[in-house]
Amino acid sequence: MLEKVLIANRGEIALRILRACRELGIKTVAVYSKADEHLMHVKLADEAVCIGPAAAADSYLNIPAIISAAEITDADAIHPGYGFLAENADFAERVTDSGFIFIGPEADTIRLMGNKVSAIQAMKKSGVPVVPGSNGPITEDNNRTLKVGREIGFPIMVKAASGGGGRGMRVVQSESELLKLIAITKAEAKAAFGDDTVYMEKFLGTPRHVEIQILSDGQGNAIYLGDRDCSLQRRHQKVVEEAPAPGIPDALRKEVGERCTDACKAINYRGAGTFEFLYENEQFFFIEMNTRVQVEHPVSEMVTGVDIIKEQLLIASGTPLRYKQEDIVIKGHSIECRINAEHHETFIPSPGKIKYWHIPGGLGVRMDSHIYRGYTVPPYYDSLIGKLITWGDDRETAMQRMRNALDEMVVDGINTNIPLHRDVIMKDSGFAKGCVDIHYLEKILGID
Ligand code: ADP
Repeated sequence: MLEKVLIANRGEIALRILRACRELGIKTVAVYSKADEHLMHVKLADEAVCIGPAAAADSYLNIPAIISAAEITDADAIHPGYGFLAENADFAERVTDSGFIFIGPEADTIRLMGNKVSAIQAMKKSGVPVVPGSNGPITEDNNRTLKVGREIGFPIMVKAASGGGGRGMRVVQSESELLKLIAITKAEAKAAFGDDTVYMEKFLGTPRHVEIQILSDGQGNAIYLGDRDCSLQRRHQKVVEEAPAPGIPDALRKEVGERCTDACKAINYRGAGTFEFLYENEQFFFIEMNTRVQVEHPVSEMVTGVDIIKEQLLIASGTPLRYKQEDIVIKGHSIECRINAEHHETFIPSPGKIKYWHIPGGLGVRMDSHIYRGYTVPPYYDSLIGKLITWGDDRETAMQRMRNALDEMVVDGINTNIPLHRDVIMKDSGFAKGCVDIHYLEKILGID
């Protein structure tokens, strides 16, 4: 078992990891920037090391500083959380080369999945359904490119193999624009990611975002923890997530889940991960794999009873997976609202001092947050200040609990997006029915 884990992150996820470590009797090391000495997990950790100034590039992305902190505190392992260095293969390699355990997959697996072309190819091999497309990079042969484009059918999406965060993608409406827009996307990809490899796939008009959570121990065992629907997005950022994804036929979920675990075994995946799909016309289309824990992991925990972070720690300790697929039974329904420090209509970030903080409670209500009264939200990082999660026997109960919880919650001193959740999303009849597509939220917000 691991004895001491360094948490290379901040905010709610750092606290979430700390709690899981404590449950397992693992000591914790917090690393923090000069702007973050008052973070809750920094106060609670067994040890805390300042790793640099406020700017993330100098602290949470500062690999030598993080490795040094692990050395001076004699930690065994490093948990990267999400964001920052969580999907940086070079970081994973440096951690391992310095003699620590990286709580996540092998660096080579991160690399394989970080390149969308190699990821899609690996998935296809295991029978994971992918978006119809060019099956590899676009070559110099323009006639071939046009022919492949016609075969896929327009509109088409041109995507950078190394793209991420919603960048490096372009929709092409017709054949006449294809070569020109490929050239532009290639130039942009080269500038942004240092790699001009691009590929084509069919553009899906009104898909849902449905993803499958997996756990795999790198010792031949893998399970999936059902699915999540994260279709409510603004600017490709998820706003509300739920599990299970409504309206997906059980047989189809099982089929895709099994293909995902096959893929995990084939690539000898180690840790928690997520297969992201677009879902349209009762079909799943793989778009990418996230090789880390995700913000929305709690909704899967609520419906399966599996503590995903704890399992990450156990897998990193070398413990074979403690669950078999037949142990995983989806019970009830769970919804998560991301609470951000931002204005609910303009979305302008709202850092500042929290003057009052009252969180809701009751059966089936969970709040994952590092915020406390008197804490000052710094302006330097992501605006997520907490995640309000509810569970119920069915979707309607989970939603009603969410409405009640949002009514109870009080935050004073800064703006939050609670009014968006409370007065718009949770009152919306379309969302209440379920199965909305990825454009739905922007549509009801009047954003095109
Ligand atoms: P990134 O790594 O930048 O997040 P993804 O491949 O995950 O890129 O795609 C991000 C978003 O772009 C998706 O959630 C979806 O909204 C949209 N998208 C990606 N591929 C397609 C496609 N083939 N058709 C329609 N929309 C797509």
